[in-house]
Amino acid sequence: MKLDELGNWRRTHLSNEVTPKLASKEVIVMGKVGGVRDLGGIKFFVLSDISGSIQITAPKAKTDKKVLAKIDSLTQESAVAVKGKVVAAKQAPRGVEVVPSEIRILNLAITPLPLDPRGRVKANLDTRLDARALDLCRPESLAIFKIRHQALQSVRDHLLSKGLIEVNTPKIVATATESGAALFPISYFEREAFLSQSPQLYKEVLTGCFERVFEVGPIFRAEEHDTPRHLNEAISIDIEVAYVTAEDVTKILEDLIVKVFSQVKRTCAKELKVLEHKLEVPRKPFPRVTYDEALKRLEQAGVKVPWGEDLPTPAGRKLGELVGGAYFVIDWPMAIKPFYTMPKRDDTKLAQAFDLMYGGIELASGGTRVHQETLLVKQLKQKGLNPQSFESHLQSFKYGALPPHAGWGLGLDRLTMVLTGAENIRECVLFPRDRKRLTP
Ligand code: ATP
Ligand code: MG
Repeated sequence: MKLDELGNWRRTHLSNEVTPKLASKEVIVMGKVGGVRDLGGIKFFVLSDISGSIQITAPKAKTDKKVLAKIDSLTQESAVAVKGKVVAAKQAPRGVEVVPSEIRILNLAITPLPLDPRGRVKANLDTRLDARALDLCRPESLAIFKIRHQALQSVRDHLLSKGLIEVNTPKIVATATESGAALFPISYFEREAFLSQSPQLYKEVLTGCFERVFEVGPIFRAEEHDTPRHLNEAISIDIEVAYVTAEDVTKILEDLIVKVFSQVKRTCAKELKVLEHKLEVPRKPFPRVTYDEALKRLEQAGVKVPWGEDLPTPAGRKLGELVGGAYFVIDWPMAIKPFYTMPKRDDTKLAQAFDLMYGGIELASGGTRVHQETLLVKQLKQKGLNPQSFESHLQSFKYGALPPHAGWGLGLDRLTMVLTGAENIRECVLFPRDRKRLTP
């Protein structure tokens, strides 16, 4: 095997750029091999690249023996480069094919493959995730990740247009942002450290100097759940804004969701078709359902949730059926919101906090945060946390005198689920990490 089969060859055309208009021109195309077929007098295979595919056709009588032998040795999914002449051919897909004069085998795939990325029969999710490098070549996977890419692009455009700046906060941290139970410990030289479960405390501190920030980054949660919407490593889109309240950032979120949905619908029509997903753009304003109303409506529908508890999965699903689409649940009990949440002025049992739901699934949580150190210390103690562990965080409140601020965290993987209609979050993450899966 030569070390560098590619040599001085470079692609002259993507497969979809090869059209009958180029007839009799010489091209170099590169991509992966579909199954090779031998029809007696003619051998052919489909070469696929990121743009689509092109048929490579070798009539035995007119093709060099070395080229024919190379075609015989090809296995499905091998990477090849083909130099050849473009021929208009009615019987070929798109009415065009390439007749090869030289083939370079760049890498030969081993057989049998654990799954056929071109197959119509779906392998089960575990098998697919085990062979993710092949699974990601399926047109459905490609469609999901193109939509995810577009969503992220729209998110950035929107937040930048609102004057937020993008930041990166540390993912190796000394203390929890919420409760220690959900943290992955790591060894940090002679000390213990943790993987960050949220950029919460850092982004709050940044409102004191940068005023409006956002971050797109990983969050790590050491929770043992095994659900279609939880992973142990997820990507969170977080914002935090100075001199505003929960209502103001709710509007930013609402505008953002509408923009992302409509841009995906417009620019990813092809991908949505591949996924057979009909995307409805939610209308503004999204319904606002208070926690109390939610409990009442659930009870009328026969689902009882005791006041002061989070909505368990079946209750969330039921509420999704009752309200539908994108909606906010507001006015949560303080007892189930984190220590940095600002209580409501007129009813301190309730939090200035909201969740954005889509059907039965939580997409985002946010609210007004506490900016006074004394209140924060009081609420830390109420949650059974030790203010001493938060000393360096509390200092920034004294020195930086944090302004009033509010923000939210939106799960990108979950957002991709609702945009693509995927039923499992693992479909929307390249290499998911869950309780059982740490590879590939
Ligand atoms: P849930 O109640 O669904 O477990 P949460 O309330 O613990 O979520 P938050 O801390 O509010 O999650 O995080 C903000 C957002 O980040 C969530 O609304 C969700 O979109 C996303 N997110 C949080 N945890 C996970 C996870 N384990 N896997 C995937 N996404 C997550
Ligand atoms: Mg939440």
